[in-house]
Parts: sequence; structure tokens; C-alpha cells
Amino acid sequence: MTNQRPRCQSVNTTCPYCGVGCGVTSTSNSIGNFTIDGDINHPANFGKLCSKGYALPDTLHGDNRLLSPRINGKNSTWREAITAIATKFQDILNTHGPEAIAFYVSGQLLTEDYYVVNKFVKGYLGTANIDTNSRLCMASSVAGHKRAFGSDTVPGCYEDLESANLVVLVGSNLAWCHPVLFQRIEAAKRRNPSLKTIAIDPRESATAQQCDIHLKIKPGGECDAVLFSGLLNYLVNQHALDNDWIKENTNNIEDAVLSCTQWTPGAIASFTGLPVEQIQSFYALFLKTEKVVTVYSQGVNQSHCGTDTVNSITNVHLATGRIGKAGAGPFSITGQPNAMGGREVGGLANMLTCHMDIENENHRSLVQHFWQSPTIAQKPGLKAVDLFKAVGTGEVKALWVMATNPADSMPLANDVADAIKNCEFTVVSEVSSHTDTSDLANIQLPARAWAEKDGTVTNSERRISRQRAFKTSPEHSRSDWWAVAHVAKAMGWASAFSYQSPADIFREYATLSGENNYGTRDFDISLFEDIDDTQYNDLSPVQWPCTKTNPQGTKRLFANGGFFTKDRKAKFIPINVGQSATSTAGKANINSAHPLLLNTGRIRDQWHTMTRTGYSPKLMSHTGEPFVEINPADAQKLQIKDATLTSVSSEFGTIQLRALITSRVTVGSVFVPMHWNKQFASNARVNVLVHNVTDPVSGQPALKNQYVQLKPCNYASHAFVLTTTKPSALTYDYWASIPVENGWKTEIASKLPPSELYHSINGALTIEPPAEPNTEEPLVYHDAPHHDFRSASFNATQLVQAVFVHKEPVHVARQVSANLLNHAIDKFTDRVMVLSGQGLLDMPDTGATICSCMNVGSKTIESAIQAGNLTIDDVGKACNAGTQCGSCRADISRMIMANKNAALTAGSVSE
Ligand code: SF4
Repeated sequence: MTNQRPRCQSVNTTCPYCGVGCGVTSTSNSIGNFTIDGDINHPANFGKLCSKGYALPDTLHGDNRLLSPRINGKNSTWREAITAIATKFQDILNTHGPEAIAFYVSGQLLTEDYYVVNKFVKGYLGTANIDTNSRLCMASSVAGHKRAFGSDTVPGCYEDLESANLVVLVGSNLAWCHPVLFQRIEAAKRRNPSLKTIAIDPRESATAQQCDIHLKIKPGGECDAVLFSGLLNYLVNQHALDNDWIKENTNNIEDAVLSCTQWTPGAIASFTGLPVEQIQSFYALFLKTEKVVTVYSQGVNQSHCGTDTVNSITNVHLATGRIGKAGAGPFSITGQPNAMGGREVGGLANMLTCHMDIENENHRSLVQHFWQSPTIAQKPGLKAVDLFKAVGTGEVKALWVMATNPADSMPLANDVADAIKNCEFTVVSEVSSHTDTSDLANIQLPARAWAEKDGTVTNSERRISRQRAFKTSPEHSRSDWWAVAHVAKAMGWASAFSYQSPADIFREYATLSGENNYGTRDFDISLFEDIDDTQYNDLSPVQWPCTKTNPQGTKRLFANGGFFTKDRKAKFIPINVGQSATSTAGKANINSAHPLLLNTGRIRDQWHTMTRTGYSPKLMSHTGEPFVEINPADAQKLQIKDATLTSVSSEFGTIQLRALITSRVTVGSVFVPMHWNKQFASNARVNVLVHNVTDPVSGQPALKNQYVQLKPCNYASHAFVLTTTKPSALTYDYWASIPVENGWKTEIASKLPPSELYHSINGALTIEPPAEPNTEEPLVYHDAPHHDFRSASFNATQLVQAVFVHKEPVHVARQVSANLLNHAIDKFTDRVMVLSGQGLLDMPDTGATICSCMNVGSKTIESAIQAGNLTIDDVGKACNAGTQCGSCRADISRMIMANKNAALTAGSVSE
């Protein structure tokens, strides 16, 4: 069963990364290669893509694919794998009951996959023990929406970001994490100079650098809620509430107001660390600007008080009636491409499908009746953290993980990995042959990859788009819905899971959404209950709700009330954070041994745990090694220099990272990217360090609130190694390895003296057998007194391996040296130059990659700036940097500013 597609055609589909949900157009050429462009007709992006979107062709190759089911490490047939799963599930059901089975799924699944697995678990196995990695991403937004609106509804749309006069970004590095959306705001600012942007973030992120105002708030979770509670208090004192609208459309304003009276500007300043004047000017700007959108993301959600913070934001929008109107509303931006679709199908353990509630008897009965299922889960299941605790204690005896990597992404990641490893029976559905989670499974199932899957996804503005297959899948890979349906059939439920296509599933789902709805539930796509296969294939992007009376879909909700509570009124939520009882909740593990607050997050060109983006040389060229950002004052105190290998420890574990000293983080805090895993580095999985404290309402882990200590590692030797294939024998004290255009580059550090490390590396690495016998001996340079050892090996004239070892971090121009791999180097003098590590005369070092779309390095950009190009646009005209997706514009701006500051210091420019 392969999904054959005719060649030489364009197919419109959606990007598989972030919640912006950009439309992409894939075009195949006559030899089956694909180009990817932005879909100019897709309303999320109108043809734009970010660096990750443009690099999608890099992820289409078959390297690292799981090509067959595997049972205990051995290839099997699908029939054998399905029989093994069905038999084991039935055994466990009979012996221990349904609560002993659990599923952990993903915002990477398509809605159709998500729907089928939820139906199987909640309606047939009879448990709600199915949670999704969206729990780590936006569960607090879901909980906040439900408390305020009675439903998990995002009220607005992307156009609001362009029609607003003020966009407030809270805990959101939109410029890097949702770049196309940020570029839409930037373009709107160019058209409308009165549009102002404010970033509220403890870090000087790429977003904060490009906003008009940066409120550098204290880190730690509660400060955002205090700032917005103070805003509500200010609006009350300024008589700026929309009292008629409040009376007509809301309840409980009195309690919310009462909860925030203590937050005077002085009290807020001392709690948040913001100057009083900054707080007052933010509040005044909010008050006088009718069209305000407040965007929030993981900085708000991933906290022990994320739900309260969400509601502190919804409170101010409800209080001013700024909701569901053009250019006004609170706006949660989701992290994953189909996090929203997962919410719709009930992918979270506390929800039923189509936004129905598991704790509502009428909803349970409606869904069970519709499915004609033998049972229905009677109570909410285990949320992610509790789910893996139950796996660890043995209460859960069978676990099925789909399209996600909890061994890296969950807090207390080592405990989670141990729990999975020791679980009686684990199934992992995966595209890759090796991930840190799939390596622990009893059964591995080969899933279809992004380019091979057919179905739908929903983006952050409730827009459903088709994801269309454009590439033939490997012979034995299968859609996730297919695998679940076959296990269900093998367990005796054939008629309920007899789907032949994603369209069959979508029709059933659409019908259920309209069942006894009559406008009482927000999620309604009953317009599509009779859609035929052709209409499904041609489905245009549309925002739900969309019904037969409202076929064009819905841009905005709630401008005139109509919330989904019993009395159709929204609810103000009293916010009690920052009080003595709760203000220390996230600080339980601070002590003198762990004085620095660890913040975690994404970097520009990586996605989740790198299972896809990690294999793109283009994306890896921006940041090739795991790092920890430290403020210069902390670094000096700890005697850590820039690029020092540094151990970062909490009470739960230790990892090793390269130090990056920067005032972008505040004194007392550090930042570490969330992406690295065992496939790319020896010991850089940041969630190994992080506690599993959760928000009490949403169950979302407080991933940004862990205290750590830092120490320099003081290794005796360091190496930089280039190879044409992935090095397989990496057993050094520290290593980090990434793909480059024609091979791999690897950083190594060791307790061994440099000479021993050098011989160890040369003994361990295997050079690919040459197509022709080597014509040259390796070139070798040894300077033992200075602990400097280098070698370069050639296959005929092509560089196939280079090793540089020194007692200090090696001074080699990484990118240009890596560019020489598999490069024909004819002249002996040039080969000797390879050992210099500084490039060749005709291939000079262009510096670390800044613009990965146009492949422009830092030195090229510096030259353009020094030639007098002092705006981002002029730099772009001079060297193309920043002219495609725009994600690097913050970096370029920083370089221009550094150049101006240097010139001012030197007295060559007058301000
Ligand atoms: Fe993909 Fe980038 Fe668009 Fe997000 S912003 S959907 S990662 S192209």
C-alpha cells in the first residue's frame, strides 16, 4: 500500500512545524525532486515562509527512516505487529482493566489520526488515558479559555494583528517561533506607523529587540499575571471599563476587581522589577488604544500559574469589550501545526471529541450513542506528567506513543525515559528509525512522514487546511489512523473502524460536531458532513465554526457576547497570584547551591527535539551546538569565559553546554534551548534538569522555572572533526555532532591529554572506503610543545576527514572548513591550507551563518555594514541577507547596532 502521486505537478499543502499553519506549494520535477514555496493563496501566509519552511526539502530524503515494523528490534510484518499489539492490549484489559493502558500522542498528528485514536481509546478501550504533547505547549490557554468563555475558543484571527494599533506580545518570541506572523506585523507597521508593538519578556529575545517597547520583566512565572492584574486595577481607577458591555455579556467582574486592588504601580514595580514609569506608560497606551491584541505563548503557558496568567489577560480584554472585534482580542498562538486540531478532537485527557466535556453526562452519552461504542470513558484520564508517573510505578502497563519524543521533551526526562524503558509493553509510531524514545520501545511502527500524509490540520486562528501527500511513501509505512484502526479491528471492533480514507473519517467527525449542537457548542463543522472525496481533496482553508447556515466560516467570535457558558455570558476570573501563599510555588527548589533560574525555549531554525530539523544542514548551520546563555556578571563570578564548556546542574541531573555570554539574559538567569537530544550531543537534554511541577488547573508543566548551578568543565583537550559520514564511535566526555552539506562536523572535549585524544579520534573514526585507492597519505601537523595536533585525509583529491586537536577550544573557521568536505583540492599548497583551518585563498571564511535562507555568513554581513550599509534593508541589498524569510533581521539589526556602538566608542561617528 503506497500512496502513489503522479510526478511533475504542484500540490498545495501545509507546513508541518509551527501553529501559524502556512500554506506551502510543493512542485516536483521530472526526476522526482521537490521544491517548496509559500502558497500565495493561503490566508495564513500569502506566499511567505520562514527558514524552517524553506528548508523542508532537506527533510524529504529517506535517511534515518524506519522502513518496517520492528518487534523487539527485529523487522516484522504489519500483521505480526498488529496481532502482537491487539493481543497484549486485550490481555491487559482482561487482567488489569482499561486504566492500565495509556496513549501519548502529538500535535504533529493530523486531525483524522487524532480523531481515530481518541475514538479507540475513549469509546472502545474505555479509558481517557490519552494525552498529547500539546499539554506541554498550550494546556493553560485551553483551561483559561474554558474558564472565561465556557469553551476553548480563540476569538480572533491573524488579520487582527494587522488591523490593531497596539500588539502586546507576552512570553512570546514570535520573531523566531512564529516568524511569518511576526513578519505580517512588521509589514503592517510599515504600512501603518501608528501600530506599536510591546514585548513583555525577561529575555531580550529577537522579538523584544524588534518591538517598539521591551518590558524586561523579572522571570519566574507570576510577574505577567501581576502586570495584567495591575492593568485591570488601573482601568478601574481610570473609569475605563466598558460597563454596558460588561453588564450585557459577562459575570463576576466584582470578584476579579477585588482580587487586583493591591496592585498599585509601586507594588507592581517591586514585584515585577519594571520601573513605575514603564508600567504607567504601558497602561496608558493600552487605555487609549481601542484596537489592542494581546498575543501570548509558551512564556505564559509553561508556568505553575499559566492558567491564571491567561485569565489575567482575558480579564482586561473582557473589561474593555476588546474581544472578537477587528484588531482587538486576546490571542493564544499555538506551538504545533495541529495543536488546535488535537484540542478539537479531544486529544487532551480531560476532553471529549468536538470540544465536548468528559465530565458532562449528556456529552458522554451523546458521543457514545453517536459512536455506538460499547463504553465511554467516565472520568478524565491522566495528564502527561501523571501519565508518565503511572508508567513509572507500573500502574500503566501498556503505552503507545505517536509522533513525539517524551524521553527528551517531558520534565524529569531521565525518569520518563526510565519509565518507558521499564514499561511492560511500549509501542512507538515514528518516522525515524532512531529517536531517544523509539529506541526504548518493544514495538516500533513505521509512520508516514509529513510529505506522505493526507488529512487536515487547524492553525492558531481556527483555520482548517488540507495537508496533502505529494511524495510516495516507503512501501511499509502507514498512516497513524490506519495503524490504530487495524488494531481496533483485530480487537473485534471492525465495523466502527472500517474507514477507507481520511475523507471517511473527516465526514464522521464533521457530522458528530453538529450532532444536537444548534449553536450550543463552539466547534461545529457540520457543513462538511456530506462532503464527497473530491470536495474533501479540494477543500479550501476555512475557519470554524462553519455550518450550512454559515458556510463561509467565522473570522471572529464574541464581539456581541454569545459565549458558550450556560447563560452565554463570559466569566471574569479572580487572580490571586503574587500573594504569599502562591508566590513561592514555583520556587520550591531554589537554594544556595542552585542560584540561577533556568529558562528554556526554542531557537530560530530548530523544531522540537530535532528529529527533522536536525537533519537539515542548512538549518543546523545557524546554531550547531547546544549552548547556555549567561549574563556577563554571572559568567565573571563563575569564571566562565565565552565558549567555555559548562556543566549545568539541578538537583535532578547535569548536562554540558557551550557558554554564550550575553546581556540578553538578566543577571541571575540563564537560557538553554529545548531541542538537543542524544542523537546529536553527548549530554544536552535540558529537560533532564527540570522539575515536574505543574499548573494546578491545566496540568501544564512549569518548564521555565527551574533553579540550576553552573561550573566550567575544565577539559584537558578539545577537538574539531570533519567526516563525510556520521561518526559512529562517539564515546568522549563531551561531543556534539551535526550534519553539514557533504558530511558531519563534530566538537569533542576530553579529560585525555591532547596527544592521546588525537590518536584516539584517528583510531576510532572510520573513513568511508574510497571509490578509488587513496593517492595521498594523510597530511599531518604535530606541534607537541604547543599541544596542537592536526591531520587531513584525502580520497584522490577530495577531503574526506580532518581532525584538529588542542588543549584549548580549537581555533578553526568551522563553516568554511566544513565546506571543503568532498571538495576537490588539487594543489598541494591548498591541501596544506586545510590544516590551517581558515579556508582557502579562493574560498575565504565568511563566518558563522546568519541568514540560512540565502546562506550569508557573519563576516559577509559585517563587510556590508562596514561599507556603509547601516539599515537592514541596505544590508539586504548589498549581500542578500534577510531578504527571504526575515527571521535573521534581528541578528542583522544587532550587528548594525554593535557596529554603530563600536564606531561611537572609537569617536568616528557623531550622534
Ligand atoms: Fe512553517 Fe515557518 Fe510558517 Fe511556522 S512560520 S508554519 S515554521 S513556514
